[in-house]
Amino acid sequence: MNIAIFSNNTEKSNEVTKKLKMLCLSHKLNLNNILPDIVISVGGDGTLLSAFHRYAHLLDSIRFIGVHTGHLGFYTDWREFNLEELVESLVNDKGESVSYPLLDVELIYKNNQPHTHFLALNEVTLKRVDGTLVCDVFISEEHFERFRGDGICVSTPTGSTGYNKSIGGAVLHPRLEALQLTEMASLNNRVFRTLSSPLIIAPDEWINLEPKNTDNFILTVDQLTTTEKNVKKLNFKIAKERIHFARYKHTHFWNRVEDAFIGAKYKDEI
Ligand code: NAP
Repeated sequence: MNIAIFSNNTEKSNEVTKKLKMLCLSHKLNLNNILPDIVISVGGDGTLLSAFHRYAHLLDSIRFIGVHTGHLGFYTDWREFNLEELVESLVNDKGESVSYPLLDVELIYKNNQPHTHFLALNEVTLKRVDGTLVCDVFISEEHFERFRGDGICVSTPTGSTGYNKSIGGAVLHPRLEALQLTEMASLNNRVFRTLSSPLIIAPDEWINLEPKNTDNFILTVDQLTTTEKNVKKLNFKIAKERIHFARYKHTHFWNRVEDAFIGAKYKDEI
């Protein structure tokens, strides 16, 4: 089995990486960053996002594992004190895995420029910073609304606890096959109207956005930020690719949510 270790290079992550490498080698597991079977990210959720984009071309053949060296993460199951258990699990691996949906966004341009595709693990956002973004929203080709505001976020179920949650989106169980559209500061008055609440579409539906008043806007894909010009349309759908995690132990999803957002300290106080 080939293992790649992808670290965020903090002092703590470097210590963990060093220990993990020694444990892998002493258990005769190969370290191979080019063609891995398993990618272990050492850091936080942001590190796992970077590891996902680094190895996105190998999604069909690799499984991810997250070791977190910061506060509790959503993509990270392991801590520095159970690295031995993790390596034992790798040695006894029987291909255990769980997979989650990804977001595919296609950009279609006004000129003859070829279409661009991005894959996102968390979300894609479309924002305008120098004025109001005006954008037609279509669901499965049917016009739904004309949005005016700061921006729009389309997230995956695993990304629902990231940026989506900060702008009032719902937390989705990652086993759901769905995409969520969340508004950023929409204009709502007698003249302009949007749904104003997050909406969640079914697996066989898709979302199209047609920006109206701008030749350039900011597009974010997880951590990546680009300025896009001449975009006619953006098509969002659940990707055919999925992310696979090696799942040797199970953390109840809602325990994870409770740990991250409510926490034992707060519960002690009530
Ligand atoms: P960052 O700005 O350095 O960190 C953003 C925070 O979001 C970190 O605490 C990160 O956790 C956490 N995070 C990332 N994915 C998450 C998920 N699926 N569920 C819960 N928390 C999550 O950005 P980054 O580390 O490069 O990560 C990019 C992601 O950050 C974006 O995809 C977006 O979801 C999120 N983000 C959120 C906001 C916001 O809430 N206002 C703003 C910008 C970006 P770790 O500390 O464990 O890495």
